[in-house]
Amino acid sequence: MTEFIAPPSCATAEPSTTLKVDEARKRILQQIDAIENWRKVALRDALGQILHEDVIAPLSVPPHANSAMDGYALRGEDLKKESTQLKLVGSAFAGRPFGEIVNSGECVRIMTGGMMPQGCNTVIMQEQAELNQDIVTLHGEHHPGDNVRLAGEDIQAGTVVLKAGHRLIPADLGLLASLGFAEIAVRRRIRVAFFSTGDELKSLGEALQPGDIYDSNRYTLFAMLTRLDAEIMDMGVIKDTPDAVRHALLHASNEADVVITSGGVSVGEADYVKKLLAELGEVNFWRIALKPGRPLAFGKIGKAHFFGLPGNPVAVMVTFYQFVQPALLQLAGAAYQPPLLLQAIAAENIRKRPGRFEFQRGLLRSNTANQLEVTMTGEQGSGILHSMSQANCFILLDEDCDGVVAGSSVTVQPFAGLI
Ligand code: AMP
Ligand code: MG
Repeated sequence: MTEFIAPPSCATAEPSTTLKVDEARKRILQQIDAIENWRKVALRDALGQILHEDVIAPLSVPPHANSAMDGYALRGEDLKKESTQLKLVGSAFAGRPFGEIVNSGECVRIMTGGMMPQGCNTVIMQEQAELNQDIVTLHGEHHPGDNVRLAGEDIQAGTVVLKAGHRLIPADLGLLASLGFAEIAVRRRIRVAFFSTGDELKSLGEALQPGDIYDSNRYTLFAMLTRLDAEIMDMGVIKDTPDAVRHALLHASNEADVVITSGGVSVGEADYVKKLLAELGEVNFWRIALKPGRPLAFGKIGKAHFFGLPGNPVAVMVTFYQFVQPALLQLAGAAYQPPLLLQAIAAENIRKRPGRFEFQRGLLRSNTANQLEVTMTGEQGSGILHSMSQANCFILLDEDCDGVVAGSSVTVQPFAGLI
Protein backbone atom coordinates (compact mmCIF):
# COMPACT_ATOMS: atom_id res chain seq x y z
CA MET A 1 0.00 0.00 0.00
CA THR A 2 1.38 3.38 -0.88
CA GLU A 3 1.14 6.15 1.62
CA PHE A 4 -0.83 9.18 0.59
CA ILE A 5 1.26 12.28 0.77
CA ALA A 6 -0.61 15.54 0.62
CA PRO A 7 0.65 17.97 -1.99
CA PRO A 8 2.45 21.00 -0.59
CA SER A 9 0.10 23.88 0.15
CA CYS A 10 0.28 27.30 1.71
CA ALA A 11 -2.26 26.21 4.31
CA THR A 12 -1.22 25.94 7.95
CA ALA A 13 -0.91 22.21 8.47
CA GLU A 14 -3.54 20.90 10.86
CA PRO A 15 -2.98 17.44 12.34
CA SER A 16 -5.77 14.97 11.62
CA THR A 17 -6.69 15.00 15.33
CA THR A 18 -7.78 18.60 15.00
CA LEU A 19 -11.52 19.18 15.32
CA LYS A 20 -13.54 21.60 13.29
CA VAL A 21 -15.46 24.27 15.18
CA ASP A 22 -18.91 22.87 14.33
CA GLU A 23 -17.87 19.35 15.22
CA ALA A 24 -16.47 20.45 18.59
CA ARG A 25 -19.68 22.36 19.38
CA LYS A 26 -21.78 19.37 18.37
CA ARG A 27 -19.79 17.02 20.57
CA ILE A 28 -20.11 19.36 23.52
CA LEU A 29 -23.86 19.83 23.12
CA GLN A 30 -24.34 16.05 22.91
CA GLN A 31 -22.90 15.74 26.41
CA ILE A 32 -25.15 18.32 28.06
CA ASP A 33 -28.56 17.52 29.52
CA ALA A 34 -30.75 20.30 30.82
CA ILE A 35 -31.20 20.66 34.56
CA GLU A 36 -34.68 19.70 35.69
CA ASN A 37 -35.10 21.82 38.81
CA TRP A 38 -37.45 24.73 38.64
CA ARG A 39 -39.04 27.32 40.86
CA LYS A 40 -41.75 29.93 40.71
CA VAL A 41 -40.63 33.53 40.58
CA ALA A 42 -42.50 36.81 40.68
CA LEU A 43 -43.01 38.15 37.17
CA ARG A 44 -40.55 41.00 37.74
CA ASP A 45 -37.81 38.51 38.60
CA ALA A 46 -38.43 36.45 35.47
CA LEU A 47 -36.55 38.57 32.91
CA GLY A 48 -33.80 36.48 31.27
CA GLN A 49 -35.01 33.31 33.00
CA ILE A 50 -35.90 30.15 31.10
CA LEU A 51 -39.48 28.91 31.08
CA HIS A 52 -39.94 25.54 32.70
CA GLU A 53 -43.15 24.66 30.88
CA ASP A 54 -45.35 25.84 28.03
CA VAL A 55 -47.53 28.79 28.99
CA ILE A 56 -51.17 28.31 28.01
CA ALA A 57 -53.40 31.38 27.91
CA PRO A 58 -56.03 31.16 30.68
CA LEU A 59 -58.00 33.96 29.01
CA SER A 60 -58.24 35.82 25.73
CA VAL A 61 -56.50 39.14 25.23
CA PRO A 62 -58.26 41.43 24.90
CA PRO A 63 -61.00 39.63 26.87
CA HIS A 64 -63.72 41.68 25.11
CA ALA A 65 -64.11 43.50 21.83
CA ASN A 66 -63.23 47.17 22.34
CA SER A 67 -62.80 50.40 20.48
CA ALA A 68 -59.53 51.32 18.76
CA MET A 69 -60.59 55.00 18.55
CA ASP A 70 -62.43 57.76 20.32
CA GLY A 71 -65.76 58.05 18.47
CA TYR A 72 -69.21 56.49 18.22
CA ALA A 73 -70.13 52.78 18.44
CA LEU A 74 -72.99 51.60 16.26
CA ARG A 75 -74.51 48.71 14.31
CA GLY A 76 -72.70 48.29 10.99
CA GLU A 77 -75.94 47.57 9.16
CA ASP A 78 -77.18 51.08 10.04
CA LEU A 79 -74.47 52.68 7.83
CA LYS A 80 -75.92 54.32 4.73
CA LYS A 81 -74.14 55.28 1.51
CA GLU A 82 -75.04 58.91 2.07
CA SER A 83 -74.80 60.49 5.48
CA THR A 84 -76.08 58.45 8.41
CA GLN A 85 -77.97 59.89 11.35
CA LEU A 86 -78.19 58.06 14.68
CA LYS A 87 -79.56 58.80 18.11
CA LEU A 88 -77.00 59.05 20.92
CA VAL A 89 -78.17 56.84 23.81
CA GLY A 90 -75.21 56.72 26.19
CA SER A 91 -71.45 56.34 26.60
CA ALA A 92 -68.82 53.60 27.02
CA PHE A 93 -65.45 54.54 28.53
CA ALA A 94 -62.48 52.23 29.11
CA GLY A 95 -63.40 50.29 32.24
CA ARG A 96 -66.93 51.78 32.32
CA PRO A 97 -69.07 49.81 29.84
CA PHE A 98 -72.49 50.84 28.51
CA GLY A 99 -74.67 48.21 30.15
CA GLU A 100 -77.58 48.05 27.70
CA ILE A 101 -78.30 46.84 24.18
CA VAL A 102 -77.88 49.35 21.38
CA ASN A 103 -80.81 49.15 18.97
CA SER A 104 -80.99 49.91 15.30
CA GLY A 105 -80.78 53.67 14.68
CA GLU A 106 -78.88 54.28 17.93
CA CYS A 107 -75.24 54.90 18.81
CA VAL A 108 -73.04 55.26 21.88
CA ARG A 109 -70.18 57.68 22.58
CA ILE A 110 -67.12 55.42 23.01
CA MET A 111 -63.47 56.02 23.98
CA THR A 112 -60.37 54.01 23.05
CA GLY A 113 -60.36 50.73 25.01
CA GLY A 114 -64.07 51.09 25.86
CA MET A 115 -65.92 47.75 25.70
CA MET A 116 -68.11 47.43 22.60
CA PRO A 117 -71.75 47.71 23.69
CA GLN A 118 -74.01 44.77 22.92
CA GLY A 119 -75.33 45.06 19.35
CA CYS A 120 -72.45 47.24 18.10
CA ASN A 121 -69.69 46.05 15.77
CA THR A 122 -68.39 49.33 14.31
CA VAL A 123 -66.76 52.53 15.58
CA ILE A 124 -66.66 55.80 13.64
CA MET A 125 -63.93 58.27 14.58
CA GLN A 126 -65.16 61.39 16.33
CA GLU A 127 -63.45 63.53 13.64
CA GLN A 128 -65.87 62.04 11.07
CA ALA A 129 -69.00 62.70 13.13
CA GLU A 130 -70.98 65.72 14.21
CA LEU A 131 -73.14 65.90 17.33
CA ASN A 132 -76.25 68.12 17.43
CA GLN A 133 -78.35 67.80 20.58
CA ASP A 134 -78.64 63.99 20.74
CA ILE A 135 -78.34 63.34 16.99
CA VAL A 136 -75.00 62.14 15.52
CA THR A 137 -74.42 62.72 11.81
CA LEU A 138 -71.66 60.66 10.18
CA HIS A 139 -69.60 61.91 7.24
CA GLY A 140 -67.41 60.02 4.80
CA GLU A 141 -67.41 56.38 3.76
CA HIS A 142 -67.43 53.68 6.47
CA HIS A 143 -67.53 49.92 6.66
CA PRO A 144 -69.03 47.56 9.22
CA GLY A 145 -66.26 46.36 11.61
CA ASP A 146 -64.18 49.53 11.32
CA ASN A 147 -62.01 50.52 14.31
CA VAL A 148 -62.92 47.56 16.50
CA ARG A 149 -60.33 45.41 18.29
CA LEU A 150 -61.79 41.92 18.49
CA ALA A 151 -61.79 39.74 21.61
CA GLY A 152 -58.77 37.39 21.44
CA GLU A 153 -57.14 39.46 18.67
CA ASP A 154 -53.77 39.31 20.49
CA ILE A 155 -54.13 35.94 22.25
CA GLN A 156 -56.86 33.28 22.16
CA ALA A 157 -57.64 31.51 25.45
CA GLY A 158 -56.24 27.96 25.45
CA THR A 159 -53.39 28.55 23.01
CA VAL A 160 -49.68 28.08 23.82
CA VAL A 161 -48.28 31.59 24.00
CA LEU A 162 -44.71 30.77 25.08
CA LYS A 163 -42.91 27.47 24.88
CA ALA A 164 -40.86 25.69 27.54
CA GLY A 165 -37.20 26.59 27.03
CA HIS A 166 -37.94 30.15 25.95
CA ARG A 167 -35.74 32.79 27.55
CA LEU A 168 -37.97 35.62 28.72
CA ILE A 169 -37.51 39.04 27.10
CA PRO A 170 -39.19 42.34 28.07
CA ALA A 171 -42.20 41.81 25.76
CA ASP A 172 -42.85 38.45 27.44
CA LEU A 173 -43.22 40.08 30.85
CA GLY A 174 -45.92 42.32 29.41
CA LEU A 175 -47.53 39.39 27.60
CA LEU A 176 -47.63 37.30 30.78
CA ALA A 177 -49.01 40.24 32.73
CA SER A 178 -51.78 40.66 30.13
CA LEU A 179 -52.75 37.05 30.90
CA GLY A 180 -52.83 37.67 34.64
CA PHE A 181 -49.70 35.71 35.65
CA ALA A 182 -48.20 37.19 38.84
CA GLU A 183 -45.72 34.30 39.07
CA ILE A 184 -44.15 32.02 36.51
CA ALA A 185 -42.30 28.66 36.62
CA VAL A 186 -38.68 28.97 35.47
CA ARG A 187 -35.65 26.71 35.68
CA ARG A 188 -33.30 27.24 38.57
CA ARG A 189 -30.20 29.25 37.75
CA ILE A 190 -27.11 27.27 36.87
CA ARG A 191 -24.09 27.58 39.13
CA VAL A 192 -20.75 28.27 37.47
CA ALA A 193 -17.39 28.28 39.26
CA PHE A 194 -14.30 29.66 37.60
CA PHE A 195 -10.69 30.45 38.32
CA SER A 196 -7.58 31.57 36.52
CA THR A 197 -4.26 29.77 36.54
CA GLY A 198 -0.89 31.40 36.01
CA ASP A 199 1.85 32.57 38.37
CA GLU A 200 2.08 35.85 36.48
CA LEU A 201 -1.51 36.81 37.33
CA LYS A 202 -2.39 39.31 40.01
CA SER A 203 -5.85 40.18 41.25
CA LEU A 204 -7.09 43.75 41.34
CA GLY A 205 -5.77 45.66 44.33
CA GLU A 206 -2.46 43.77 44.33
CA ALA A 207 0.76 45.45 43.22
CA LEU A 208 2.32 44.23 39.99
CA GLN A 209 5.86 42.86 40.32
CA PRO A 210 8.14 42.65 37.28
CA GLY A 211 6.70 40.06 34.90
CA ASP A 212 3.20 40.21 36.38
CA ILE A 213 -0.05 41.17 34.67
CA TYR A 214 -3.53 41.72 36.01
CA ASP A 215 -5.98 38.87 35.61
CA SER A 216 -8.53 40.10 33.07
CA ASN A 217 -10.14 36.79 32.14
CA ARG A 218 -12.03 36.52 35.39
CA TYR A 219 -13.70 39.81 34.62
CA THR A 220 -14.75 38.98 31.08
CA LEU A 221 -15.97 35.59 32.34
CA PHE A 222 -17.83 37.27 35.19
CA ALA A 223 -19.50 39.63 32.71
CA MET A 224 -20.41 36.97 30.14
CA LEU A 225 -21.83 34.71 32.87
CA THR A 226 -23.78 37.60 34.39
CA ARG A 227 -25.44 38.17 31.03
CA LEU A 228 -26.48 34.50 31.09
CA ASP A 229 -27.89 35.00 34.56
CA ALA A 230 -25.74 32.24 36.03
CA GLU A 231 -24.96 32.02 39.74
CA ILE A 232 -21.31 32.89 39.87
CA MET A 233 -18.54 31.48 42.04
CA ASP A 234 -15.32 33.41 41.41
CA MET A 235 -12.45 31.43 42.93
CA GLY A 236 -9.71 33.89 42.09
CA VAL A 237 -6.23 33.14 40.77
CA ILE A 238 -4.96 29.67 41.59
CA LYS A 239 -1.22 29.03 41.79
CA ASP A 240 0.23 26.99 38.98
CA THR A 241 0.99 23.89 41.07
CA PRO A 242 -0.66 20.47 40.85
CA ASP A 243 -1.79 20.60 44.48
CA ALA A 244 -3.37 24.03 44.27
CA VAL A 245 -5.13 23.25 40.97
CA ARG A 246 -6.30 19.81 42.22
CA HIS A 247 -7.76 21.35 45.35
CA ALA A 248 -9.48 24.14 43.41
CA LEU A 249 -10.95 21.74 40.85
CA LEU A 250 -12.34 19.42 43.51
CA HIS A 251 -13.84 22.25 45.49
CA ALA A 252 -15.35 23.84 42.37
CA SER A 253 -16.78 20.58 41.04
CA ASN A 254 -18.48 19.87 44.37
CA GLU A 255 -20.13 23.26 44.47
CA ALA A 256 -21.06 24.04 40.89
CA ASP A 257 -22.79 22.65 37.79
CA VAL A 258 -19.96 23.90 35.61
CA VAL A 259 -16.29 24.63 36.21
CA ILE A 260 -14.42 26.96 33.87
CA THR A 261 -10.70 27.62 34.00
CA SER A 262 -8.58 29.84 31.83
CA GLY A 263 -4.94 29.26 31.04
CA GLY A 264 -2.86 26.18 31.50
CA VAL A 265 -4.14 24.16 28.55
CA SER A 266 -1.54 25.23 26.02
CA VAL A 267 1.09 22.75 24.91
CA GLY A 268 3.79 23.62 27.43
CA GLU A 269 1.47 23.58 30.39
CA ALA A 270 -0.96 20.87 29.45
CA ASP A 271 1.10 17.99 30.75
CA TYR A 272 0.48 18.26 34.47
CA VAL A 273 -3.06 19.60 33.93
CA LYS A 274 -3.75 16.63 31.67
CA LYS A 275 -2.58 14.18 34.31
CA LEU A 276 -4.55 15.96 36.98
CA LEU A 277 -7.74 15.98 34.97
CA ALA A 278 -7.33 12.32 34.07
CA GLU A 279 -7.03 11.64 37.80
CA LEU A 280 -10.07 13.73 38.76
CA GLY A 281 -12.48 13.05 35.94
CA GLU A 282 -12.96 12.42 32.25
CA VAL A 283 -11.56 15.28 30.28
CA ASN A 284 -10.59 15.50 26.62
CA PHE A 285 -7.99 17.87 25.31
CA TRP A 286 -8.96 19.07 21.91
CA ARG A 287 -7.06 20.92 19.26
CA ILE A 288 -9.65 22.90 17.39
CA ALA A 289 -9.02 24.39 13.96
CA LEU A 290 -9.91 27.77 15.37
CA LYS A 291 -8.22 31.12 15.70
CA PRO A 292 -7.96 32.41 18.29
CA GLY A 293 -8.40 29.60 20.79
CA ARG A 294 -7.01 26.39 19.40
CA PRO A 295 -6.69 24.31 22.60
CA LEU A 296 -9.78 23.47 24.63
CA ALA A 297 -10.27 20.95 27.41
CA PHE A 298 -13.78 19.60 27.89
CA GLY A 299 -15.28 16.86 30.02
CA LYS A 300 -16.52 16.12 33.50
CA ILE A 301 -15.12 16.33 36.99
CA GLY A 302 -17.50 14.54 39.32
CA LYS A 303 -20.97 15.75 38.36
CA ALA A 304 -19.72 19.08 37.02
CA HIS A 305 -19.06 19.88 33.38
CA PHE A 306 -15.56 21.19 32.85
CA PHE A 307 -14.27 23.70 30.32
CA GLY A 308 -10.54 24.46 30.26
CA LEU A 309 -10.24 27.57 28.13
CA PRO A 310 -7.02 28.99 26.72
CA GLY A 311 -5.32 31.79 28.62
CA ASN A 312 -5.20 34.47 25.98
CA PRO A 313 -7.94 37.02 26.68
CA VAL A 314 -9.49 37.11 23.20
CA ALA A 315 -9.32 33.32 22.93
CA VAL A 316 -11.24 33.09 26.21
CA MET A 317 -14.06 35.19 24.80
CA VAL A 318 -14.16 33.47 21.42
CA THR A 319 -14.19 29.97 22.91
CA PHE A 320 -16.74 31.04 25.52
CA TYR A 321 -19.15 32.40 22.92
CA GLN A 322 -18.65 29.56 20.44
CA PHE A 323 -18.66 26.59 22.83
CA VAL A 324 -19.40 27.44 26.45
CA GLN A 325 -22.35 29.78 26.01
CA PRO A 326 -24.44 27.39 23.88
CA ALA A 327 -23.61 24.60 26.33
CA LEU A 328 -24.63 26.69 29.35
CA LEU A 329 -27.89 27.72 27.70
CA GLN A 330 -28.66 24.09 26.93
CA LEU A 331 -27.79 23.10 30.50
CA ALA A 332 -30.06 25.85 31.79
CA GLY A 333 -32.95 24.40 29.77
CA ALA A 334 -33.02 26.89 26.89
CA ALA A 335 -34.10 25.77 23.44
CA TYR A 336 -31.18 25.88 20.99
CA GLN A 337 -31.07 28.94 18.80
CA PRO A 338 -28.70 28.93 15.86
CA PRO A 339 -26.53 32.05 15.78
CA LEU A 340 -27.83 35.00 13.80
CA LEU A 341 -25.41 35.39 10.90
CA LEU A 342 -25.50 38.27 8.44
CA GLN A 343 -23.73 39.14 5.22
CA ALA A 344 -21.82 42.40 5.14
CA ILE A 345 -19.53 44.14 2.69
CA ALA A 346 -15.87 44.04 3.73
CA ALA A 347 -14.79 47.68 3.76
CA GLU A 348 -11.12 46.69 3.65
CA ASN A 349 -8.96 43.74 2.69
CA ILE A 350 -8.87 41.03 5.35
CA ARG A 351 -5.79 38.85 5.56
CA LYS A 352 -6.18 35.18 6.37
CA ARG A 353 -4.30 31.96 5.74
CA PRO A 354 -6.25 28.79 4.95
CA GLY A 355 -6.31 26.14 7.67
CA ARG A 356 -8.22 27.40 10.66
CA PHE A 357 -11.64 28.94 11.15
CA GLU A 358 -11.06 32.52 12.26
CA PHE A 359 -13.25 34.75 14.37
CA GLN A 360 -11.87 38.19 13.64
CA ARG A 361 -13.31 41.19 15.41
CA GLY A 362 -15.24 43.72 13.39
CA LEU A 363 -17.21 46.90 13.52
CA LEU A 364 -20.49 46.57 11.67
CA ARG A 365 -22.38 49.63 10.51
CA SER A 366 -24.78 50.80 7.85
CA ASN A 367 -23.17 52.74 5.02
CA THR A 368 -24.81 55.68 3.28
CA ALA A 369 -26.78 53.28 1.05
CA ASN A 370 -28.04 51.47 4.20
CA GLN A 371 -26.00 48.39 3.39
CA LEU A 372 -24.14 46.58 6.14
CA GLU A 373 -20.43 47.23 5.99
CA VAL A 374 -17.74 45.83 8.26
CA THR A 375 -14.24 47.00 9.16
CA MET A 376 -11.75 45.24 11.39
CA THR A 377 -10.93 46.59 14.82
CA GLY A 378 -7.21 46.80 14.27
CA GLU A 379 -4.64 44.17 15.25
CA GLN A 380 -6.16 40.74 15.67
CA GLY A 381 -3.73 39.01 18.04
CA SER A 382 -5.30 36.73 20.64
CA GLY A 383 -3.93 38.86 23.45
CA ILE A 384 -5.34 42.12 22.06
CA LEU A 385 -8.47 42.49 24.11
CA HIS A 386 -9.24 45.98 22.88
CA SER A 387 -9.99 44.41 19.48
CA MET A 388 -13.00 42.83 21.24
CA SER A 389 -13.84 45.90 23.24
CA GLN A 390 -14.09 48.07 20.11
CA ALA A 391 -15.96 45.44 18.12
CA ASN A 392 -19.67 44.82 17.75
CA CYS A 393 -19.40 41.61 15.71
CA PHE A 394 -17.26 38.63 14.84
CA ILE A 395 -16.16 38.30 11.22
CA LEU A 396 -16.38 34.59 10.38
CA LEU A 397 -13.74 33.31 8.00
CA ASP A 398 -13.95 29.59 7.32
CA GLU A 399 -11.07 27.12 7.15
CA ASP A 400 -10.61 27.39 3.38
CA CYS A 401 -10.78 31.15 3.16
CA ASP A 402 -7.48 32.68 2.06
CA GLY A 403 -8.33 36.31 2.62
CA VAL A 404 -11.08 38.69 1.68
CA VAL A 405 -10.86 41.47 -0.88
CA ALA A 406 -12.41 44.82 0.00
CA GLY A 407 -15.90 45.11 -1.51
CA SER A 408 -16.73 41.44 -1.31
CA SER A 409 -19.22 39.88 1.05
CA VAL A 410 -18.31 38.31 4.42
CA THR A 411 -20.33 36.56 7.12
CA VAL A 412 -20.62 38.37 10.44
CA GLN A 413 -22.10 37.41 13.80
CA PRO A 414 -23.35 40.49 15.64
CA PHE A 415 -22.62 40.62 19.36
CA ALA A 416 -26.15 41.94 19.85
CA GLY A 417 -27.52 38.43 19.46
CA LEU A 418 -24.90 36.93 21.75
CA ILE A 419 -26.63 38.15 24.93
P1 AMP B 1 -1.57 30.16 28.93
O1 AMP B 1 -2.71 29.59 28.16
O2 AMP B 1 -1.69 29.95 30.39
O3 AMP B 1 -0.27 29.74 28.37
O4 AMP B 1 -1.66 31.73 28.72
C1 AMP B 1 -1.54 32.31 27.45
C2 AMP B 1 -1.39 33.82 27.58
O5 AMP B 1 -2.52 34.36 28.19
C3 AMP B 1 -0.22 34.24 28.46
O6 AMP B 1 0.36 35.38 27.89
C4 AMP B 1 -0.84 34.55 29.78
O7 AMP B 1 -0.12 35.48 30.53
C5 AMP B 1 -2.18 35.11 29.34
N1 AMP B 1 -3.18 34.88 30.37
C6 AMP B 1 -3.47 33.70 30.95
N2 AMP B 1 -4.43 33.85 31.85
C7 AMP B 1 -4.77 35.15 31.86
C8 AMP B 1 -5.71 35.94 32.60
N3 AMP B 1 -6.50 35.35 33.52
N4 AMP B 1 -5.81 37.25 32.34
C9 AMP B 1 -5.02 37.81 31.41
N5 AMP B 1 -4.11 37.15 30.68
C10 AMP B 1 -3.98 35.83 30.91
MG1 MG C 1 -0.35 30.06 32.00
